[in-house]
Amino acid sequence: MLWPVLLRAEQDFFVVLQYHHVSNDAPASTSVRIEQFEQHLSYLADNGFHVLALDDALQAVQQGKPLPNFSVAITFDDSYRSIYEHAYPRLKQRGWPFTVFVNTAPMAEQQPWAIRWEELLEMQANGGLIANHSVSHPHFPRREATDWKPWAREEIRQAGNTIQRHLGNRPTLFAWPYGEYNPMSQSLLQELELTGFGQHAGAVSRYEDFTALPRFAVNQRYANLDTLADKLRAKPMPVQDIHPDNFVLSADNRQPRLDVSMAEEAPPGGWQHALQCFVSGQGMVSPTWLNPNSFRLQAPASLRPGRSRYTCTARDSDGRYFWFSRQWLLPNTDGTWPKE
Ligand SMILES: [Zn+2]
Repeated sequence: MLWPVLLRAEQDFFVVLQYHHVSNDAPASTSVRIEQFEQHLSYLADNGFHVLALDDALQAVQQGKPLPNFSVAITFDDSYRSIYEHAYPRLKQRGWPFTVFVNTAPMAEQQPWAIRWEELLEMQANGGLIANHSVSHPHFPRREATDWKPWAREEIRQAGNTIQRHLGNRPTLFAWPYGEYNPMSQSLLQELELTGFGQHAGAVSRYEDFTALPRFAVNQRYANLDTLADKLRAKPMPVQDIHPDNFVLSADNRQPRLDVSMAEEAPPGGWQHALQCFVSGQGMVSPTWLNPNSFRLQAPASLRPGRSRYTCTARDSDGRYFWFSRQWLLPNTDGTWPKE
């Protein structure tokens, strides 16, 4: 494929924000407070960001068309009413598009905290794209069963059917619950012709796998504008090769090695000079360089059971950071999964 020569005010990637609740009385790990959300929107408006519809921005990246500099898409996961009550009116007021990934079971069960179909219809008519987040919000890669594939296919297909029945449109976008996926679930998503999103950090670009695209999680821990400012301006790390391609670990692989090769376009001084890597719960970790564009990262101590991340950034000459991350999933030492 031919990639366009970009003008100064254009880029060939964009950043996706992932919110859950927008509410003053929800758990800090899955919410931002209403005033924090307002601050974020004001920051985007005051600092030259372009808030784009997720499907339009994706299409541009897939077709190699340029996007405006500082392009951002806003997404919400799960079928929480607080999205309709607190986020939607503020987005509508600004005329900004957004995407809501809904899991359909809580709506079918008419949970008191769940959003309603008529509310989704109203949002759909006012800039909201309603997308697929499965029926029951399962941990896809944790289930070991001979019927895995038919089960997983129905989780995704039925949610699509239900959304289509109520809203008239069949979603083409899907978000992995907990950002958990493995190669088997990725190939299923490909069969279903859906584009998938995880919850590892980074920018959406041609360097990423379209069955598990990165997003920046925003919650009360990460709502601070100092750290969010760098994420909103993040650039994609030009990754050419990653090994392994399965981030679900076996019980005896508790300090996984990750080998990453990058394209030659590098920040000033080269990758070796600029790259900084971090391991969840273990702080900064120095990578081992295999050659000037390839490094190996390995946690110095065992990862905790459950989800953890390797994250690398590198500051470019314009002050923006190249950003790369992957989320590991590790069972307990006896092979069982930690309770959540
Ligand atoms: Zn979710």
